[in-house]
Amino acid sequence: MEFNYGIVQLKSTTKSHVFLIPDTKGYTLIDASYPNDGEKIIDELGKLKVDLKKIHSILITHSDWDHIGSLKYLYDHLNAKVYCSKTEYDNWMGKCHDYSFIPEKIKQELLELKKIMTPITKDMIGDFKVIKTPYKFHSHGMNMYQYRDVLFCGDMVQSVGKLVPIISKYNLDNKIYLQYLREFNITGIKTICPAHGPSVLATE
Ligand SMILES: [Zn+2]
Repeated sequence: MEFNYGIVQLKSTTKSHVFLIPDTKGYTLIDASYPNDGEKIIDELGKLKVDLKKIHSILITHSDWDHIGSLKYLYDHLNAKVYCSKTEYDNWMGKCHDYSFIPEKIKQELLELKKIMTPITKDMIGDFKVIKTPYKFHSHGMNMYQYRDVLFCGDMVQSVGKLVPIISKYNLDNKIYLQYLREFNITGIKTICPAHGPSVLATE
């Protein structure tokens, strides 16, 4: 699926989307899907005729396993720098969810990824506006990224063709979460791209 500005929602990552954005320096990826999707992602980028050397950044919204699962593979196959929010970095794979279902080997690999992360401390990263969500919101400190009038909102909301809140059991603090949703100002945003479900126009 292709949006304005040549943005692509990769087809190979339907359960947790990875987005490819052509920007002024080359390409940026948003998030890294579940484990074992890396090969499919690289394959799809090849089919899209993306020069892999030009992917300079991977922006991670938060450190849930469905967003960093294939990050190691992508990091090893690309020449990209990887970024996340400072609070997410400080609480890498923190106590957001019960991860007892993840095989220990995979969990250890994902924990190790902290070493390759660069925490973002500025309001802009390249062409992207960085929008921090509150501490203990959905994850510990998820970042959303805005490119022009397109918002990559991670797990702020999910989509079922229209935007719906993330169910309460996935939120560290549902009260903070719902209040943030109510107060979030979408001025200047035309398209919202959640990690889960189809993207929607901000007016819908
Ligand atoms: Zn998610």
